[in-house]
Amino acid sequence: MLGEGILKGLAETAKNFAGSFVSKERMTTVEYPEERLPLPEASRNFPFLVYDGTDWEAGLRCVACQICEKECPPKCIYIDKSKDKKPDHVGKMQIYPTKFDIDISICMSCQICVEVCPFEAIKMDSEYELATDDRFGGLLLDRHQLAKPNEYYHKIHPTEAAEVDARLAEEKVKADAKAKAAAAAPKPAAVPAAKPAIVASSVASPKEGEAG
Ligand code: SF4
Ligand code: SF4
Repeated sequence: MLGEGILKGLAETAKNFAGSFVSKERMTTVEYPEERLPLPEASRNFPFLVYDGTDWEAGLRCVACQICEKECPPKCIYIDKSKDKKPDHVGKMQIYPTKFDIDISICMSCQICVEVCPFEAIKMDSEYELATDDRFGGLLLDRHQLAKPNEYYHKIHPTEAAEVDARLAEEKVKADAKAKAAAAAPKPAAVPAAKPAIVASSVASPKEGEAG
């Protein structure tokens, strides 16, 4: 029937208007910014960098492998890799990003950077209050602005973060067992060093008949 959708919409509006006097469920208006609806766990907008421990810089999981930079479809990730290594949050020496910027005015929230990262270092954030009057500088987020603790990841995506933690713990157990097995393995017997070859021309003994 022509206009059926409009009539259905008006009926729903009327139901909410009348119902809002007796039921909180029918209060469809949210008094933002004083009031905010909880976001669904799967909500996402732009990426952030996860760090472990309390020091954001030392705790960044990112090792600047640049895979995400290469795979990002609109090329809005900019990474500079360090020339040296620094201890990470557990003291392991790691390459790290000296620059890690994301231009969120270009980012299309595709999550490919998250999918390709082998180190669980980049995840999708659900922060949406990012409006700024600085069109360029204000939307180019650097590594410090992007860094957020693992606890924050657990807060916004609890199921996913718990799975990641379990996976990382399992990988650590395997790596520790491998290192232990390698340390316990018998060392190959030392091969005696070969005697230096005597170069005939340099130490040639006098020919017979030339002596004396
Ligand atoms: S979400 Fe997509 S567009 Fe945004 S930084 Fe990651 S790969 Fe690039
Ligand atoms: S976020 Fe992941 S994929 Fe991107 S550079 Fe860091 S470690 Fe590599």
